[in-house]
Amino acid sequence: MLLSKDSYMRILLFGPPGVGKGTQAKLLSSKLKIPHISTGDILREAVVDGSELGRKAKAVMDAGQLVSDDIMIGIIRNVLASVRCAQGFILDGFPRTVPQAEALTALLQTLSISLKAVIYMDVDEKEIISRLSSRLTCRVCGKILSTAGDTLDDTSSCPTCGGELYQRDDDKPETIIKRLSVYRKSTMPVKDYYQKLGVLRDVNALGEVDQITNLILDILNRS
Ligand code: AMP
Repeated sequence: MLLSKDSYMRILLFGPPGVGKGTQAKLLSSKLKIPHISTGDILREAVVDGSELGRKAKAVMDAGQLVSDDIMIGIIRNVLASVRCAQGFILDGFPRTVPQAEALTALLQTLSISLKAVIYMDVDEKEIISRLSSRLTCRVCGKILSTAGDTLDDTSSCPTCGGELYQRDDDKPETIIKRLSVYRKSTMPVKDYYQKLGVLRDVNALGEVDQITNLILDILNRS
């Protein structure tokens, strides 16, 4: 069974780039005390480390394309089977293609675990483009900020930890357009995949951050 009502918080959060998955996943991870597994963060760490995975992934990410299913499924297989994820997890950024979704279903079966909820966050494309173009990320604590929505006295340092704020290479305008087209072609079918299985829960991600967290917590409480 893909979903179950057991007490483990195993959550799949997905939706278009810039919808606020990362922000919500970080908040939920700290509230629910479960690890936040972001495949984008795993790849960006590999790029910083200069590992073979990082070298392969960088060009693909900078072009707004998707890293291959084989690589991504291999990463998720190792992470979900690790002790760290034994008590629950929140998956952010995986699956992004139907083969990844199918591989995840098979992997959960192999591990004899089920998900608590599959949550789809959505806002319209105009809002996504505006959010991505104004997004800044802290290099140290990973906090996500917006030059449009947050009052920042200084756009170069993080108000929480003082770390350096930077614009992701893939948040540049040309790459945003490419990422959205890849999303429509490769990731939208993942929504259909979960819809057909009858497990998808929609969340309108337009609104205050806390309001959206509460909507997600409500879904989890009722799941
Ligand atoms: P994110 O931080 O989730 O927006 O991911 C940043 C980039 O990492 C994406 O645009 C892709 O190039 C790559 N990436 C992250 N997760 C996946 C995935 N599940 N499949 C393929 N590529 C991914």
